[in-house]
Amino acid sequence: MKAYVTEKPRHLSLTEVEEPEVGPGQVLLQVRAVGICGSDHHIYLGHHPYARLPMVQGHEFCGEILRYGPECKETLPEGSQVVIEPLLRCGTCYACRQGRYNCCESLAIFGVHRPGAFQERVVVPEYLMHGSDDLEPQVATFAEPLSIAVQAVKRGRIQADDIVLVLGAGPIGLATLLACKDIGAQVVISDVMASRLEKARALGADQVFNPERDDPQALRAYTGGGVTAVIDAVAVEPAIRLGIDLLRAAGRYVLIGMSGKDLPIPISTVVAKEIDIIGSRNSSNVFADAVALLRRNVSKVEQIISVSEGLDTLPAMMDYSIEHPEKVEKMVVVL
Ligand SMILES: [Zn+2]
Ligand SMILES: [Zn+2]
Repeated sequence: MKAYVTEKPRHLSLTEVEEPEVGPGQVLLQVRAVGICGSDHHIYLGHHPYARLPMVQGHEFCGEILRYGPECKETLPEGSQVVIEPLLRCGTCYACRQGRYNCCESLAIFGVHRPGAFQERVVVPEYLMHGSDDLEPQVATFAEPLSIAVQAVKRGRIQADDIVLVLGAGPIGLATLLACKDIGAQVVISDVMASRLEKARALGADQVFNPERDDPQALRAYTGGGVTAVIDAVAVEPAIRLGIDLLRAAGRYVLIGMSGKDLPIPISTVVAKEIDIIGSRNSSNVFADAVALLRRNVSKVEQIISVSEGLDTLPAMMDYSIEHPEKVEKMVVVL
């Protein structure tokens, strides 16, 4: 079968690979759609902190059940479309025993540490499947980025009476906007790209903020003295300063964005305001919630995704989505 293998930075090569073996508790899927994520850009460009090349990328995917291996529960009929929570965990480490398998000490992610969905077929454990027959394949793949947002909202204990500043209006920032609005919170979203702020407005942001153009004091006034939570999907120094500065005392600062380097955090302000700094990685026990959130937001998700037809369009779409962030929020390749 055909697979795109990232051999070395900036080289996605079409390769003929062996059909995968279907072991106990596993399912063979025909890939129907796969999203290209910001972390895929990092892997492709060769500066992802955890990924090693060569690798078949693709962790945001849905597929059709072709065949169950032995010892499966066979909860869904063959031919069903499923979207996959792409996290393999050990189940025994401290994090796993707390139910926080998203940061398992031996975590393996499809498309990062294990072959992902930049190929025709893929084998996954049955327990990672979520039925999605009612969703278009390109829409269903967005359950994965939404799960990241739902996790951040859970970690930040976001409630309806919160005013949340979302830093970054890329796919994860926009997914976070949808997750916060679903709860009923007010959302201010910040980005330096005007096109993304426009999209955020259309998707329901209460206010948008461009740090290169707008005055933080006006934003403080708009929020009546500051925000109660920040969800940071960018992790760059000026954004952290802005977020900590605009946060009210007793607020929460949730970090989703990954940075290749350590960034300074204004510690004295964190202590003075007793701010909770909270890391949020992948998601745990909320993937079904993310699929449900997706079902409530199909028309909005359709505004976030761009679709390309055919596995062979993958290399061009990888480059295009890297070079044109002003035109593409989330690129999805439909097979
Ligand atoms: Zn992703
Ligand atoms: Zn573990």
